[in-house]
Amino acid sequence: METDVLIIGSGIAGLSLAIKLNDGHPDLHITIISKSEADDCNTRYAQGGVAAVTNLRNDSFNNHIHDTLACGKGLCSSAIVKMVVEQAPARINDLVQLGVKFDYQDNKHFHLALEGGHSLPRVVHHKDKTGFEIESVLLKQVQARSRIQLLTNTTVIDLLTENINHKKTCSGIKILDTKSNQIISFRSQVTVLASGGCGQVYANTTNPRVASGDGYAMAFRAGAVIKNMRFMQFHPTSLYQAANHHVSFLISEALRGFGAHVVDGNEKRFLFLYDNRGELATRDVISNAIYDYMQTKGLSFVYLDLRHLDIKSAKNHFPQIFAEFKRANLNPKYDLIPITPSAHYQCGGVAVDQDGLTSIQQLYALGEVSYTGLHGANRLASNSLLEALVFAHNAAEKINSESFINKASHQKTESIDIQIFEKKGIKELIFQLKKTMTKTAFENDYEELLKARTLSTDILTMIEQEIANMKFSQELLLLRNLSQTANLILNDKIENFKTADKEIQSIHF
Ligand SMILES: Cc1cc2nc3c(=O)[nH]c(=O)nc-3n(C[C@H](O)[C@H](O)[C@H](O)COP(=O)(O)OP(=O)(O)OC[C@H]3O[C@@H](n4cnc5c(N)ncnc54)[C@H](O)[C@@H]3O)c2cc1C
Repeated sequence: METDVLIIGSGIAGLSLAIKLNDGHPDLHITIISKSEADDCNTRYAQGGVAAVTNLRNDSFNNHIHDTLACGKGLCSSAIVKMVVEQAPARINDLVQLGVKFDYQDNKHFHLALEGGHSLPRVVHHKDKTGFEIESVLLKQVQARSRIQLLTNTTVIDLLTENINHKKTCSGIKILDTKSNQIISFRSQVTVLASGGCGQVYANTTNPRVASGDGYAMAFRAGAVIKNMRFMQFHPTSLYQAANHHVSFLISEALRGFGAHVVDGNEKRFLFLYDNRGELATRDVISNAIYDYMQTKGLSFVYLDLRHLDIKSAKNHFPQIFAEFKRANLNPKYDLIPITPSAHYQCGGVAVDQDGLTSIQQLYALGEVSYTGLHGANRLASNSLLEALVFAHNAAEKINSESFINKASHQKTESIDIQIFEKKGIKELIFQLKKTMTKTAFENDYEELLKARTLSTDILTMIEQEIANMKFSQELLLLRNLSQTANLILNDKIENFKTADKEIQSIHF
């Protein structure tokens, strides 16, 4: 199997890159691979929107730059922040040209939402389901282009690398074929990781099952530079689900802004015990407070109380959230809504330059899997969809400008027979790892970090032995990537525990 450009991931990063490459280079053969259905990804769930200065009369690039730097706690790259902010209006325009429908306040101007950390309203959106709108339009565009092939329900196991001109070069991927019980190598001139985040490393997460950190783990195994994995962002209010659920639905903080209270089972508001801003404190403060309260009282969840609000008006503002309440059989007029903090966004990742190129030749990383320098220690709300669009644009310009064809491998594609088996105890190990990682996220304790690292290292050693014996299963590969990503997060936390940014780390996990 061979292709010119191989893209791992069908979220905003992978799809927008494919479209731009096809527009600039119609002959290029592009293959997009996704682990599940094409639209099963973080992008689809994005609610808020895309941050961009679209009205220079009321706002300025400098304001957006300032807000991003302040949120990143001094760890952003100011050159990258400037580049991304200044490109934002053009990238929004690209989406509009492709058919994405954003909300308007009048014929000319977008309706702009105000989100936490932004000094002015500047978030372009489609109701409270912007990600769904963007993903649907980009997928339609991709499906209409005959030179782009979309392979769904296909798991990439690893990247293929070799030395070309004394430089480590990516020459494709290995995929698992459960029909033929084979691992098949798939060669490409350029390979792009657009594989999303890693919320699934934790017990509660707003991220879907595909966000299991595969891209970070694959890049690490291939020898790429990875940075700042300690900065996992948590969201304080997601719908509590029993342990067998994989995804916790995100309940926007705008609902607290609308007047919702956080209460315990006795209907007591407790956030004021931690911060005098109560429900209006920042995400990190509220996540920490809720976790601490739950630990102290032995609770698995607390509640959001909406009963005192104008429910009709709230439903109007948050149609998607209210639809989810209905699905969960909750009536916010009478019922308390069970909530818990959840892992939400990975600010670190595979280190890239301004074109999305990693430390390995012919390997790019775009979207949440990458570390570009935009977010620093903490992502400003709605800057991540923007980051994916800007770096996909830059990568497309770079790839389209190069005569890269036939630069890479001349090695033949090959298939290796393997044994597919269900190893006992994998589910329990996944559960144990997730629980341990959640503890380390909230309790910044050095000894606990070391213990958690021993657990993830032991799991990895066991799995690598099975893989060396050509024994595979989907669950085993899932645990392999979860524990490798956990290991990367823990190593980064341990290395930085005693350094100057300890304070930042304890604020933002
Ligand atoms: C509930 C929620 C709300 C959010 N709201 C906002 C918001 O309002 N604004 C904002 O800017 N950001 C928001 N975010 C963050 C934003 O949605 C993500 O950062 C962004 O969508 C990531 O896009 P991506 O293309 O990098 O990855 P994704 O959209 O997650 O796509 C990842 C792709 O990689 C594939 N993949 C992964 N591993 C493998 C493998 N081993 N083999 C094959 N394929 C693989 C998956 O199948 C999937 O197709 C939100 C996130 C969530 C979860």
